[in-house]
Amino acid sequence: MIAQVIVDVAARQTDRAFEYHIPSDLEKDIKIGSRVVVPFGPRKVQGFVVGLSETSEFKGKLKDLLVVVDEMPPLTPELVKLSADLAKNIYSYRIKILQAMLPWVMRAGYRKLLLPNSSQAQKMQFFKGDPIDLNKVTDPDQIKQIRKLLRNDDAKIEYVVENKAKKKKENQYDLVLAPSEYEKIYNTLRQNAVKQKQLLMDIVENYKAYPKSQSNLENKLDLTSSVLNSAVKKGWLKRKAVEVYRDPLAGFDDHKPAKITLNDEQQNALDQIAQKIDQQKSKTFLLEGITGSGKTEVYLHAISEALAQGRNALMLVPEISLTPQMVRQVRARFGQEVAVLHSALSEGEKYDEWRRIRRGETKVVVGARSAVFAPLDNIGLIVIDEEHESSYKQETDPRYNARNVAIWRSKYHHCPLVLGSATPSLGSRARAQKHVYQLLRLTKRANHKELPQVNLIDLKHVQFAGGQFDLSVNLVNAIKDRLEKKEQVILMLNRRGFANFMLCRECGFVLKCPNCDVSLNLHKDTNSMQCHYCGHTEPIPQRCPNCQSSQIRFLGTGTQKVQEELEELLPGARILRMDVDTTRRKGSYKRILDAFGNHEADILLGTQMIAKGLDFPNVTLVGVINADTGLWISDYNASEKTFELLTQVAGRAGRAEKEGEVMIQTYNPDHYAIQLAKTQDYERFYAYEMNVRHAGNYPPYFFTVLISIASKKEQNAAREAFRIKRFLMQRLHQETIILGPSPSAISRVKNQYYYQILVKYKKEPNLNELLHHVQDSAQEAKKYGLSIYIDNEPERIM
Ligand code: ADP
Ligand code: ZN
Ligand code: ZN
Repeated sequence: MIAQVIVDVAARQTDRAFEYHIPSDLEKDIKIGSRVVVPFGPRKVQGFVVGLSETSEFKGKLKDLLVVVDEMPPLTPELVKLSADLAKNIYSYRIKILQAMLPWVMRAGYRKLLLPNSSQAQKMQFFKGDPIDLNKVTDPDQIKQIRKLLRNDDAKIEYVVENKAKKKKENQYDLVLAPSEYEKIYNTLRQNAVKQKQLLMDIVENYKAYPKSQSNLENKLDLTSSVLNSAVKKGWLKRKAVEVYRDPLAGFDDHKPAKITLNDEQQNALDQIAQKIDQQKSKTFLLEGITGSGKTEVYLHAISEALAQGRNALMLVPEISLTPQMVRQVRARFGQEVAVLHSALSEGEKYDEWRRIRRGETKVVVGARSAVFAPLDNIGLIVIDEEHESSYKQETDPRYNARNVAIWRSKYHHCPLVLGSATPSLGSRARAQKHVYQLLRLTKRANHKELPQVNLIDLKHVQFAGGQFDLSVNLVNAIKDRLEKKEQVILMLNRRGFANFMLCRECGFVLKCPNCDVSLNLHKDTNSMQCHYCGHTEPIPQRCPNCQSSQIRFLGTGTQKVQEELEELLPGARILRMDVDTTRRKGSYKRILDAFGNHEADILLGTQMIAKGLDFPNVTLVGVINADTGLWISDYNASEKTFELLTQVAGRAGRAEKEGEVMIQTYNPDHYAIQLAKTQDYERFYAYEMNVRHAGNYPPYFFTVLISIASKKEQNAAREAFRIKRFLMQRLHQETIILGPSPSAISRVKNQYYYQILVKYKKEPNLNELLHHVQDSAQEAKKYGLSIYIDNEPERIM
């Protein structure tokens, strides 16, 4: 037997499979999707089996495959096939796509530094603790020290294919005697052996419930491990270590939800979807429903329908950590059969959830972007909630769009795909218009509540409260009013930190990041100036670094500053802040949202994190501190993103009995995106914006490819960009538009200068191949310190 293997070496030459002979003792273990170790040149590398055959033209000359890594192939034949198709559509290497399909701990393996007990190694502070994954060491000092250790033979490097330690084990206690014997022991125990008596009582009463886990016995019976140890010694119990799954949903209560009867619109949407589930037909639906129209309820009913047909369901949500409420609902409905996958889980939790799915132990998978690769079999329904969210597109290699992958999988499984949103992306809505997708609309709020009243506050003509220019008197009064009524308020400002930049009034100097072409932000909580692009921090200057003047000002505003102002203006108000800075720690999202849900705070102030999916019945006022933050960025998407964000955040108000109000502060009250967000009129926005896109030759009328060229030397980046442009100009159609090269909006990040070329086209059958050429030359260019990034999104459908 011969195996075709994609090896773990990212290069154009290795984008095709290499053939290996399978030794007879490995034959029965090797399947399509197996992870293997093979010789490659002088090295041994990991790879994935993507094909099997009986013969090869090189038969007899092939090298032997060395190792099969896992008992069960980590990739299904479906995922192997998907990786091939995806590699043709996005500009990446197939090995990168295969790896992206696996949890991090299984990817590629990694190089681990092994340290014998040498005194030199022990002296080095940072080697305390776990062995080091060399892929993760970036600190130049550490790298220097590691080199030194290797030179002196104090350490060696081992290639680890999988971190076995990531599997979690727990002690389990099983019974060894008959029930009557335990009773006998219980009766002869001394009176003061309280804990032992307690354990035996439990055994007698719950004989059938054993074996029990250590944590179960310790927590439920309040026993210590020494009681269990002695029980084992006395021969009452036997202990064994078993593998357990970490449960990321532990702590979520599984209360059964009230039964909801769908309204006519919901029922109609469900019927259409259910029909395709029953017929086993692939079909993409766009479920366009205003906020609060009960889209979630439609998803959950549709998932039930798929399960009733004996099939499984995959549901994508933007970033679950942001919407624990959604996870909670799905878990409440489908219990232990739900697996979740998202970035806030620990690597171990992700690995466990992934293995449960791969082993067929779950029926419903809820996850963020990468969950679209979940090794779930027999899929009967795929749902993408908030389909317009940009987080469904991965912005690093491989740059895939989860929506397109979901379309592929729905075709593979002959099942419907439901894209849901209150503000569908223009591309999706345009496809529904052309009947590529089928449009389903929910036009009424499920609880018959009106949409909240939205008021615009023109910041050009308004009185501000306090000494700053952030909060209008109108907004502050409205907040006061709600606090008196014991109602709650959500405030959004899409900018974190305290102030955006430091300006010298004497000489005009602006303090910039030494590595990036952006100003540094003041962060009061950490008492530092921070770069939001590279993480650089430095102390807050007391004087202008340029002219030593003390006349320096910190301008612009962020969530930290607004929090301080609110505390001053509304003494006694309880404020929770939710932004990147307050949610770094695991579980902090949930803590903040739970506290707000329990009315432990009056005001939830946050960045766009709080705009989506939250459902708090007591929130009657939503305030947008500044609607203009994203309006003037140089991106054709700016209006769409602004409309979307305002509509989403407005939808957080007045979701239950009490009426909701929304106040949007803006310097651009006449801008169409803001005007139409006021009336929350998606259909009119769609019509207007389509005209704008048409006039500007933008998606969805054109496809776009963005090519970014980066180098530490600005001229090199520019020169390469012009070379690529000439190459493309000679080969592309006349009507194709090539813009640039020009410096990117932020021209320097992490000491790299960026140039970009934007290609807009309608039909370019050869573009795929041409871009692969550009990518090949990128390999070459690397030698000269150039990097090239190609992004063929947004609108291509596989
Ligand atoms: P969306 O996701 O469209 O914004 P949700 O699914 O969150 O809306 O629904 C909004 C609220 O309406 C939720 O509290 C939900 O429980 C409730 N709801 C949904 N459908 C119905 C229904 N048919 N009858 C009564 N309440 C409903
Ligand atoms: Zn100065
Ligand atoms: Zn920086």
